[in-house]
Amino acid sequence: MAGAHRNIRLLHQSPIANAVREQSAAYAAAVAEQEHGLVRELWAVRGRSDADQVHRIAERSGLPVRWLAKAPTVNGERGMDKLLEERNVLLLRDRQSPFIEQFQHPLGRCAKFYKLTAYNNCNYWCEYCYLYLTFRNSPVSTHFVNYDRMFREIEAFDGASIPEPLRVLNLGELGDPLAVDEITGFAEQVVPFLPAHAPHTKLLFLTKSDAVKMLLPLEHGGRTIVSFSVNTDKVWRYLEHRTPSPAARLEAAREVQNAGYEVRLRIDPVIRYSTWKTDYEALVEEAFSLVRPSRITIGEYRPAEGLSNHIRARFPQSPLIKVNGSLVAEAGKLRYPRASRIEMFAALINAIRRHSARTDIALCKEDNQVWKAVGLNGSGLCCNCLG
Ligand code: SF4
Repeated sequence: MAGAHRNIRLLHQSPIANAVREQSAAYAAAVAEQEHGLVRELWAVRGRSDADQVHRIAERSGLPVRWLAKAPTVNGERGMDKLLEERNVLLLRDRQSPFIEQFQHPLGRCAKFYKLTAYNNCNYWCEYCYLYLTFRNSPVSTHFVNYDRMFREIEAFDGASIPEPLRVLNLGELGDPLAVDEITGFAEQVVPFLPAHAPHTKLLFLTKSDAVKMLLPLEHGGRTIVSFSVNTDKVWRYLEHRTPSPAARLEAAREVQNAGYEVRLRIDPVIRYSTWKTDYEALVEEAFSLVRPSRITIGEYRPAEGLSNHIRARFPQSPLIKVNGSLVAEAGKLRYPRASRIEMFAALINAIRRHSARTDIALCKEDNQVWKAVGLNGSGLCCNCLG
């Protein structure tokens, strides 16, 4: 714990601080130069389905389509060039695997929720993103356009015998489902589909986006939950490049709540640094000044052991590389030591409880002992990805 604390504090005290600040400024400048927001190139793989969706998306984006015979694989660049190759592009292609699959946590630390994979990867550049590792062999941000098959799978899911808490399709497990929605227009097709054709199922958008204008007029029928991932201003400035500010996300949360959507918050990854406690308390304060979330799920920073190399390849000066070296291995991930994360979770829970006795609070992928240590009931199915 002390090591991790010290490492983050280095941001303010040593030459690495300047390097990290310079890197952050350079990445922010790269964003400011972009003509087309997060997507500068549109690629498409020739598929078996017709190309209508590709043409529709190309028209929305105003970008020419570069047609490919197959999906691109690894590229050899490093640093920002690598990010520009992987995450300045949106690849459109048919999904061959099922759109709907059940999540299986290897150690049973998570409910077997269902995910709906409309995107692989993301066009944001968060330094801690686990998808750099997950999609190391196919790192280009992808949107699957064979919607017809996806809609058939949603209808079949709706008719299947599935317990109520699991009747939620999570769109945020393998990408941010709203990050490039202004280009894909995916939400306006899928959100009204649920009340019309799958009324026993819910959708869950987990997002860092503030682009919610297109959600507001949709006939959602109470079947779509929007869960905003938020963090402190410091974590945002140093680690969540190209994302809207936490304040902008919370303002977006207020707007979708006013439009009748259920709103949840996710505070994840919680990162320990010199002013973490006051910063996370301020985040909770700001959240409750704008929105009444039905549920808040908290998770610590917990990288897979193999993630550091993938972070380093894209963000050579990332402060996370040092932090990772000071974490401890537990349950297949690197984590803050138990006492440290209990302290962080407890501080956040106290801050939330000062504003609301009714908001559900959950921890992401923690064992029962940690839930109990912070006064939560670990047997309840009440975390972000469930109904
Ligand atoms: S928003 Fe999520 S999926 Fe996108 S880069 Fe950040 S951590 Fe990765």
